[in-house]
Amino acid sequence: MKQSTTLPVRALPEAEAYSGKGTGWKRRFHVMAKPTGSRCNIDCSYCFYLHKSQLLKQERNRGMSDETLERFIRQYIEGQDGEQVVFSWQGGEPTLMGLDFFHKVVRYQNKYQKPGQRIENDLQTNGILINDRWAAFLKQHRFLVGLSIDGPRELHDRYRLTRSGGPTFDRVMAGVDALKKHQVPFNALVTVNRTNARFPLEVYRFLTQELGATYIQFNPCVEPVTFDHTAPQFWRDDSIPVTGSRRARPGDLDSIVTDWSVDPEDWGKFLIATFEEWVNHDLGRVQVNLFETAVAQTLGMPSQICTSAEFCGKGLAIEQNGDIFSCDHYVYPEYQLGNIHDNSLARMAISERQQAFGFGKRDTLPQYCRQCPHLKLCWGECPKNRLVRSPQGETGLNYLCPGIRAFFDYASPILAGIATLLKRQTTGEMQ
Ligand code: SF4
Ligand code: SF4
Repeated sequence: MKQSTTLPVRALPEAEAYSGKGTGWKRRFHVMAKPTGSRCNIDCSYCFYLHKSQLLKQERNRGMSDETLERFIRQYIEGQDGEQVVFSWQGGEPTLMGLDFFHKVVRYQNKYQKPGQRIENDLQTNGILINDRWAAFLKQHRFLVGLSIDGPRELHDRYRLTRSGGPTFDRVMAGVDALKKHQVPFNALVTVNRTNARFPLEVYRFLTQELGATYIQFNPCVEPVTFDHTAPQFWRDDSIPVTGSRRARPGDLDSIVTDWSVDPEDWGKFLIATFEEWVNHDLGRVQVNLFETAVAQTLGMPSQICTSAEFCGKGLAIEQNGDIFSCDHYVYPEYQLGNIHDNSLARMAISERQQAFGFGKRDTLPQYCRQCPHLKLCWGECPKNRLVRSPQGETGLNYLCPGIRAFFDYASPILAGIATLLKRQTTGEMQ
């Protein structure tokens, strides 16, 4: 990954428009848009984005201008040949841009949509501002909502706090009521942190039984203590601890991660407990991103999420001023590809540098991963979390490795059983 930053942002020949001839290769990539930059209306302890305004020297309260918005939408649509283009609106808190901004989004999308092309939107929100007007808009324009919620009240309010340190649970639930009233589909996005990781069944049952979520995304909270100023892979070599050691876990004075980061072993236990519950009660009814993708990979299909894929680099991020970064988790000056006011989005997305970034996910794996029985389900997880050394001392191992290994040791035979069952069902249906 680090090596990619030394390469020029030179467009590959494939960045140019698809001619309709040849192999049928199409230009496809995904961009997460951050129209408010890091601005948010709450102050979660573990937020990895709030500090970006200082790091990127952003003007506070600016927000994406009309000119940048229209240019982004035009370039994003023009730069792709697939039948579907997905816009993801994130932050900070994107609803702070106001509904008028999102009416403009839809207007510009209609203006530039190509014949036969389907445009979809998703919005990741903390839910605080979601009311009847928002919900009606989201329903009318078929936005898929990702709602951040960390579990029942006491677990949610542990880190998801207002700026004055107050709880947010009730306000989020009011947003959920508005979404349900207007039948807006939503995904529950759970940041699995040091606290809620110890209550897997409480979290899972709250989501599926009380919240009524049928789509769940579990995101492990892993934050190096230097995350506000040091880009991933630019860590000092001599500060990298061995997996499982004191400094490779949260809570130690010299730990390399923040106190709220999930403990690697708790991550494994969390996955095992929720997976077991999912298999026994909700298989086929509730979709959990990490489990669905593990089933798909066991069936020999590609991973549905970047973190467990062999390569990455197809998901970029755009900041409020049009700056483009290699990934949402790599919004650091070192990983900036350019700005849409100076270069085209497709030429940055399909460039030598971005390709090297994506291949780096596989090519920088330590031997320990290459020899791991779970390599093809894990692929070293996200490179931003490769903070530790392997037991042999090699750098580049994922901080979460002990938990990931424990989970796949437990789940692999069950995954194989589910895959066999699904194959039989498909074969039966075809006969
Ligand atoms: S760096 Fe991590 S989050 Fe970004 S695309 Fe790669 S795997 Fe996904
Ligand atoms: S489980 Fe650990 S060793 Fe195996 S591929 Fe994943 S990170 Fe590497």
